[in-house]
Amino acid sequence: MRTIGLIGGMSWESSAEYYRLINQRVRAQLGPLRSAPMLMYSVDFGPVAQAQHDGRWDDAAQILEDAARRLQAGGADCVVLCTNTMHRVAPRIEAAVSIPFLHIADAVGRAAVQAGTLAVGLLGTAFTMEQDFLKARLAEHGLSVLVPEAEERKAVHKIIYEELCVGIISDTSRQAYLRIIAALAARGAQTIVLGCTEIGLLIKPEHTDLPLLDTTELHAQAAVAFAVQD
Ligand code: GLU
Repeated sequence: MRTIGLIGGMSWESSAEYYRLINQRVRAQLGPLRSAPMLMYSVDFGPVAQAQHDGRWDDAAQILEDAARRLQAGGADCVVLCTNTMHRVAPRIEAAVSIPFLHIADAVGRAAVQAGTLAVGLLGTAFTMEQDFLKARLAEHGLSVLVPEAEERKAVHKIIYEELCVGIISDTSRQAYLRIIAALAARGAQTIVLGCTEIGLLIKPEHTDLPLLDTTELHAQAAVAFAVQD
């Protein structure tokens, strides 16, 4: 098997999910005692989150370039960046190493196309919902992407940073997300992309009738597909 390199810590609540999902999938595919060769470089999220909110994307990119180089030096065969938002600087990370970078939006785009979905509703941080880096990459897969209205985007963003990234899972916030999901569906979204790697901790398939595409799960699957290839 090839060694998966993960850039984690953004937040570690979701990095732990990647670790679990990747190993569960390898076990299901290869047998009960099999697990994935992996390296994780887990950053301190504090300075990264501060740089995001200050608009200092170059500073954040430098931290992640360094993490990617450390993974490659440690023997990783690919880089998996365990956050949607930081895909804002994906080209910088990709250019810093010679091993493949498995882009989160490609994993999602392929799954959406396979499911026959054309219009998706996207939930994520304000950066992900309002800037173009993820939406444009999804559009390359032929998807049209709807995002919540301004006030709803604020609420989605706040819950991510103040609750999900610090391990708080609240029913009130779940209800708020479900109302926003319903509004996206009413505007034509056929499927909801959980475009932040912590949202799957709050919203699960049993909470809604709408199909969900969970970026954490799909990205973890893509990592396993890469690792088990000959
Ligand atoms: N994990 C989140 C994401 O997937 C948010 C944290 C971050 O800003 O990196 O976007």
